[in-house]
Amino acid sequence: MIRLFSLTLTLALLLTASGCVGRAAAPDPEPVTVSAPEVLPDPPPEPESPPPEEESPPPEEESPPPEEAGEPEEPYVRVIDPSKPMVALTFDDGPSGLCTDQILDVLEENHALATFFEVGRNVARCPEPVKRMAELGCEVASHSNAHKDLSRLKKAALLADLDTADQAFASAGVEAPTLVRPPYGAVNQTVKSATGRSVITWTVDTLDWKSRDAQAVIDYIQGYGDLDGEIVLMHSIYSSTAEAVAALVPWLQEQGYQLVTVTELMAYYYGELPQPNCFYGYTYFTTHGRTDTPVELPGMLPPAAEEAEG
Ligand code: ZN
Repeated sequence: MIRLFSLTLTLALLLTASGCVGRAAAPDPEPVTVSAPEVLPDPPPEPESPPPEEESPPPEEESPPPEEAGEPEEPYVRVIDPSKPMVALTFDDGPSGLCTDQILDVLEENHALATFFEVGRNVARCPEPVKRMAELGCEVASHSNAHKDLSRLKKAALLADLDTADQAFASAGVEAPTLVRPPYGAVNQTVKSATGRSVITWTVDTLDWKSRDAQAVIDYIQGYGDLDGEIVLMHSIYSSTAEAVAALVPWLQEQGYQLVTVTELMAYYYGELPQPNCFYGYTYFTTHGRTDTPVELPGMLPPAAEEAEG
Protein backbone atom coordinates (compact mmCIF):
# COMPACT_ATOMS: atom_id res chain seq x y z
CA MET A 1 0.00 0.00 0.00
CA ILE A 2 2.77 2.40 0.99
CA ARG A 3 4.73 1.40 -2.08
CA LEU A 4 1.73 2.08 -4.30
CA PHE A 5 1.30 5.46 -2.69
CA SER A 6 4.93 6.42 -3.17
CA LEU A 7 4.80 5.25 -6.78
CA THR A 8 1.81 7.51 -7.38
CA LEU A 9 3.61 10.39 -5.73
CA THR A 10 6.72 9.89 -7.84
CA LEU A 11 4.61 9.79 -10.97
CA ALA A 12 2.81 12.97 -9.94
CA LEU A 13 6.12 14.75 -9.29
CA LEU A 14 7.47 13.67 -12.64
CA LEU A 15 4.39 15.01 -14.40
CA THR A 16 4.66 18.32 -12.53
CA ALA A 17 8.31 18.63 -13.44
CA SER A 18 7.74 17.88 -17.09
CA GLY A 19 4.91 20.41 -17.09
CA CYS A 20 7.42 23.08 -16.05
CA VAL A 21 9.92 22.05 -18.67
CA GLY A 22 7.22 22.06 -21.30
CA ARG A 23 6.36 25.63 -20.47
CA ALA A 24 9.89 26.98 -20.78
CA ALA A 25 10.37 29.58 -23.45
CA ALA A 26 9.77 28.51 -26.99
CA PRO A 27 11.59 31.16 -29.02
CA ASP A 28 9.35 33.50 -30.90
CA PRO A 29 9.56 33.08 -34.62
CA GLU A 30 11.40 35.95 -36.24
CA PRO A 31 8.64 38.25 -37.45
CA VAL A 32 8.62 39.48 -40.97
CA THR A 33 9.08 43.18 -41.55
CA VAL A 34 7.78 45.78 -42.85
CA SER A 35 7.35 48.77 -45.03
CA ALA A 36 9.78 51.65 -44.77
CA PRO A 37 8.53 54.90 -43.25
CA GLU A 38 7.79 57.58 -45.79
CA VAL A 39 9.21 60.62 -44.13
CA LEU A 40 12.37 59.27 -42.63
CA PRO A 41 14.64 56.43 -43.61
CA ASP A 42 14.20 53.20 -41.75
CA PRO A 43 17.02 52.53 -39.34
CA PRO A 44 18.67 49.18 -39.91
CA PRO A 45 16.91 46.64 -37.70
CA GLU A 46 19.36 45.49 -35.09
CA PRO A 47 18.08 42.13 -33.93
CA GLU A 48 19.90 42.65 -30.69
CA SER A 49 16.81 42.28 -28.61
CA PRO A 50 17.07 43.05 -24.91
CA PRO A 51 17.70 40.13 -22.62
CA PRO A 52 14.49 38.43 -21.60
CA GLU A 53 13.71 39.48 -18.09
CA GLU A 54 11.54 36.57 -17.16
CA GLU A 55 12.79 33.71 -15.17
CA SER A 56 10.95 30.48 -15.61
CA PRO A 57 8.11 30.32 -13.16
CA PRO A 58 8.59 28.33 -10.00
CA PRO A 59 7.00 24.91 -9.87
CA GLU A 60 3.38 25.08 -9.03
CA GLU A 61 3.58 24.19 -5.40
CA GLU A 62 1.63 26.11 -2.88
CA SER A 63 2.28 29.70 -3.87
CA PRO A 64 1.22 32.15 -1.19
CA PRO A 65 -2.19 33.69 -1.78
CA PRO A 66 -1.79 36.87 -3.85
CA GLU A 67 -2.48 39.64 -1.37
CA GLU A 68 -5.26 39.45 1.13
CA ALA A 69 -8.20 41.68 0.60
CA GLY A 70 -7.95 43.65 3.85
CA GLU A 71 -4.36 44.77 3.37
CA PRO A 72 -3.75 48.34 2.25
CA GLU A 73 -2.19 48.51 -1.21
CA GLU A 74 1.36 49.86 -1.40
CA PRO A 75 1.47 53.03 -3.49
CA TYR A 76 3.28 52.43 -6.77
CA VAL A 77 6.65 54.15 -6.96
CA ARG A 78 7.96 54.60 -10.49
CA VAL A 79 11.71 54.18 -10.77
CA ILE A 80 13.64 54.25 -14.05
CA ASP A 81 16.96 52.46 -14.35
CA PRO A 82 19.04 54.34 -16.95
CA SER A 83 21.14 51.26 -17.62
CA LYS A 84 18.16 49.22 -18.79
CA PRO A 85 16.32 49.36 -22.14
CA MET A 86 13.84 52.18 -22.62
CA VAL A 87 11.61 53.49 -25.36
CA ALA A 88 9.50 56.63 -25.71
CA LEU A 89 6.01 56.22 -27.13
CA THR A 90 4.71 59.47 -28.60
CA PHE A 91 1.24 60.39 -29.79
CA ASP A 92 0.47 63.26 -32.16
CA ASP A 93 -2.62 65.16 -33.29
CA GLY A 94 -4.83 64.85 -30.20
CA PRO A 95 -6.46 65.24 -27.92
CA SER A 96 -9.47 63.29 -29.03
CA GLY A 97 -11.91 62.57 -26.25
CA LEU A 98 -12.39 58.82 -26.54
CA CYS A 99 -9.15 57.55 -28.08
CA THR A 100 -6.85 59.65 -25.92
CA ASP A 101 -8.66 58.44 -22.81
CA GLN A 102 -8.39 54.81 -23.93
CA ILE A 103 -4.65 55.25 -24.39
CA LEU A 104 -4.35 56.95 -21.00
CA ASP A 105 -6.29 54.06 -19.41
CA VAL A 106 -3.71 51.59 -20.74
CA LEU A 107 -0.78 53.73 -19.61
CA GLU A 108 -2.28 54.19 -16.16
CA GLU A 109 -3.02 50.47 -15.70
CA ASN A 110 0.56 49.58 -16.64
CA HIS A 111 2.31 52.43 -14.79
CA ALA A 112 3.73 53.59 -18.10
CA LEU A 113 4.29 57.13 -19.37
CA ALA A 114 4.29 58.59 -22.87
CA THR A 115 4.53 61.97 -24.57
CA PHE A 116 1.57 63.61 -26.27
CA PHE A 117 2.23 66.21 -28.97
CA GLU A 118 -1.11 67.97 -28.93
CA VAL A 119 -2.65 70.36 -31.41
CA GLY A 120 -3.55 73.64 -29.68
CA ARG A 121 -6.95 74.06 -31.31
CA ASN A 122 -7.87 70.51 -30.26
CA VAL A 123 -6.76 71.26 -26.71
CA ALA A 124 -9.06 74.29 -26.69
CA ARG A 125 -11.99 72.09 -27.76
CA CYS A 126 -11.17 69.12 -25.56
CA PRO A 127 -9.00 70.06 -22.56
CA GLU A 128 -9.91 67.22 -20.19
CA PRO A 129 -7.56 64.51 -21.54
CA VAL A 130 -4.68 66.99 -21.41
CA LYS A 131 -5.29 67.64 -17.73
CA ARG A 132 -5.48 63.93 -17.12
CA MET A 133 -2.26 63.08 -18.95
CA ALA A 134 -0.41 65.77 -17.01
CA GLU A 135 -1.78 64.40 -13.74
CA LEU A 136 -0.58 60.92 -14.67
CA GLY A 137 2.93 62.26 -15.25
CA CYS A 138 2.85 62.02 -19.04
CA GLU A 139 4.66 64.70 -20.98
CA VAL A 140 2.44 67.28 -22.66
CA ALA A 141 4.10 68.76 -25.72
CA SER A 142 3.05 71.00 -28.58
CA HIS A 143 2.19 70.00 -32.13
CA SER A 144 1.45 73.63 -33.11
CA ASN A 145 -1.93 75.29 -32.95
CA ALA A 146 -3.43 74.63 -36.35
CA HIS A 147 -1.36 71.73 -37.71
CA LYS A 148 0.11 73.75 -40.56
CA ASP A 149 3.40 73.05 -42.28
CA LEU A 150 5.53 75.31 -40.08
CA SER A 151 8.36 75.41 -42.58
CA ARG A 152 6.13 77.43 -44.90
CA LEU A 153 5.27 80.12 -42.36
CA LYS A 154 7.11 83.39 -41.91
CA LYS A 155 8.83 83.58 -38.58
CA ALA A 156 6.24 85.93 -37.04
CA ALA A 157 3.37 83.67 -38.10
CA LEU A 158 5.21 80.61 -36.85
CA LEU A 159 5.76 82.13 -33.42
CA ALA A 160 2.17 83.38 -33.30
CA ASP A 161 0.91 79.89 -34.05
CA LEU A 162 3.02 78.34 -31.28
CA ASP A 163 1.98 81.07 -28.83
CA THR A 164 -1.70 80.49 -29.60
CA ALA A 165 -1.19 76.80 -28.86
CA ASP A 166 0.48 77.70 -25.58
CA GLN A 167 -2.58 79.73 -24.59
CA ALA A 168 -4.74 76.67 -25.16
CA PHE A 169 -2.44 74.61 -22.94
CA ALA A 170 -2.60 77.31 -20.27
CA SER A 171 -6.40 77.37 -20.45
CA ALA A 172 -6.37 73.61 -19.95
CA GLY A 173 -4.37 74.18 -16.78
CA VAL A 174 -1.05 72.75 -17.92
CA GLU A 175 2.30 74.44 -18.38
CA ALA A 176 3.29 75.78 -21.76
CA PRO A 177 5.21 72.95 -23.42
CA THR A 178 8.90 73.36 -24.15
CA LEU A 179 8.91 70.52 -26.68
CA VAL A 180 7.43 71.01 -30.14
CA ARG A 181 6.97 68.44 -32.87
CA PRO A 182 6.38 70.13 -36.22
CA PRO A 183 3.42 68.77 -38.18
CA TYR A 184 4.52 66.36 -40.95
CA GLY A 185 8.03 66.57 -39.49
CA ALA A 186 8.50 69.59 -41.76
CA VAL A 187 11.32 71.86 -40.67
CA ASN A 188 13.48 74.66 -42.01
CA GLN A 189 16.25 76.55 -40.26
CA THR A 190 13.81 78.88 -38.49
CA VAL A 191 11.73 75.99 -37.17
CA LYS A 192 14.85 74.16 -36.08
CA SER A 193 16.57 76.98 -34.26
CA ALA A 194 14.46 80.09 -33.72
CA THR A 195 11.28 79.17 -31.86
CA GLY A 196 12.68 79.28 -28.34
CA ARG A 197 11.54 75.66 -28.03
CA SER A 198 13.13 72.25 -28.46
CA VAL A 199 12.03 70.73 -31.73
CA ILE A 200 11.78 66.94 -31.75
CA THR A 201 10.74 64.46 -34.41
CA TRP A 202 10.89 60.65 -34.13
CA THR A 203 12.85 57.58 -35.15
CA VAL A 204 10.22 54.87 -35.61
CA ASP A 205 7.13 55.58 -37.70
CA THR A 206 4.33 53.06 -37.19
CA LEU A 207 2.32 54.58 -40.08
CA ASP A 208 -0.77 54.09 -37.90
CA TRP A 209 -2.44 57.04 -39.62
CA LYS A 210 -2.15 55.25 -42.93
CA SER A 211 -3.01 51.67 -42.06
CA ARG A 212 -5.69 52.42 -39.43
CA ASP A 213 -5.13 48.79 -38.55
CA ALA A 214 -4.26 47.79 -34.97
CA GLN A 215 -2.65 44.50 -36.00
CA ALA A 216 -0.45 46.22 -38.56
CA VAL A 217 0.86 48.58 -35.88
CA ILE A 218 1.40 45.72 -33.43
CA ASP A 219 3.21 43.65 -36.07
CA TYR A 220 5.41 46.58 -37.04
CA ILE A 221 6.57 47.25 -33.49
CA GLN A 222 6.90 43.59 -32.53
CA GLY A 223 8.93 42.94 -35.67
CA TYR A 224 11.08 46.04 -35.46
CA GLY A 225 14.02 44.64 -33.54
CA ASP A 226 15.88 46.60 -30.91
CA LEU A 227 13.79 49.55 -29.73
CA ASP A 228 16.16 50.71 -27.01
CA GLY A 229 16.52 54.51 -27.23
CA GLU A 230 13.91 54.89 -29.97
CA ILE A 231 11.08 57.42 -30.24
CA VAL A 232 7.96 55.79 -31.66
CA LEU A 233 5.46 57.89 -33.58
CA MET A 234 1.75 57.15 -33.28
CA HIS A 235 -1.44 59.23 -33.30
CA SER A 236 -3.93 59.41 -30.46
CA ILE A 237 -6.97 60.02 -32.65
CA TYR A 238 -7.57 56.55 -34.09
CA SER A 239 -9.36 53.72 -32.31
CA SER A 240 -7.06 51.30 -34.15
CA THR A 241 -4.07 52.97 -32.48
CA ALA A 242 -5.71 52.81 -29.06
CA GLU A 243 -6.34 49.10 -29.65
CA ALA A 244 -2.72 48.55 -30.68
CA VAL A 245 -1.46 50.41 -27.60
CA ALA A 246 -3.49 48.12 -25.33
CA ALA A 247 -1.46 45.19 -26.68
CA LEU A 248 1.88 46.93 -27.13
CA VAL A 249 2.33 48.54 -23.73
CA PRO A 250 2.27 45.26 -21.76
CA TRP A 251 4.23 43.53 -24.52
CA LEU A 252 7.01 46.13 -24.48
CA GLN A 253 7.22 45.88 -20.70
CA GLU A 254 7.43 42.08 -20.92
CA GLN A 255 10.36 42.53 -23.31
CA GLY A 256 12.11 44.56 -20.60
CA TYR A 257 11.52 48.07 -21.97
CA GLN A 258 10.83 50.93 -19.61
CA LEU A 259 8.26 53.27 -21.15
CA VAL A 260 9.51 56.80 -20.66
CA THR A 261 8.71 60.32 -21.80
CA VAL A 262 10.81 62.06 -24.44
CA THR A 263 12.51 64.23 -21.83
CA GLU A 264 13.27 61.15 -19.73
CA LEU A 265 14.68 59.38 -22.78
CA MET A 266 16.87 62.39 -23.55
CA ALA A 267 18.10 62.59 -19.96
CA TYR A 268 18.60 58.90 -19.23
CA TYR A 269 19.57 57.49 -22.60
CA TYR A 270 21.14 60.41 -24.49
CA GLY A 271 22.51 62.18 -21.40
CA GLU A 272 21.19 65.69 -21.99
CA LEU A 273 18.04 67.69 -21.52
CA PRO A 274 16.33 69.14 -24.60
CA GLN A 275 17.63 72.67 -25.13
CA PRO A 276 15.71 75.63 -26.55
CA ASN A 277 16.38 76.45 -30.21
CA CYS A 278 17.78 72.99 -30.82
CA PHE A 279 16.54 70.39 -33.24
CA TYR A 280 16.53 66.70 -32.34
CA GLY A 281 15.74 64.70 -35.44
CA TYR A 282 16.52 61.33 -36.87
CA THR A 283 20.19 62.16 -37.35
CA TYR A 284 20.64 63.25 -33.76
CA PHE A 285 19.07 60.11 -32.35
CA THR A 286 20.82 57.71 -34.67
CA THR A 287 24.28 59.20 -34.21
CA HIS A 288 24.17 59.34 -30.41
CA GLY A 289 24.35 56.12 -28.46
CA ARG A 290 23.50 55.41 -24.87
CA THR A 291 25.26 57.79 -22.49
CA ASP A 292 27.43 56.76 -19.56
CA THR A 293 26.38 59.89 -17.70
CA PRO A 294 22.62 60.18 -17.54
CA VAL A 295 21.06 63.42 -16.43
CA GLU A 296 19.36 62.69 -13.16
CA LEU A 297 15.65 63.44 -12.98
CA PRO A 298 13.31 62.76 -10.07
CA GLY A 299 12.42 59.08 -10.25
CA MET A 300 15.74 57.86 -11.58
CA LEU A 301 17.25 54.84 -9.87
CA PRO A 302 20.27 56.27 -8.01
CA PRO A 303 23.50 55.28 -9.81
CA ALA A 304 25.03 53.78 -6.68
CA ALA A 305 22.00 51.65 -5.91
CA GLU A 306 22.87 48.05 -5.29
CA GLU A 307 21.04 45.31 -7.07
CA ALA A 308 18.20 44.21 -4.90
CA GLU A 309 18.25 40.56 -4.04
CA GLY A 310 15.74 38.11 -5.31
ZN1 ZN B 1 0.41 65.71 -36.88
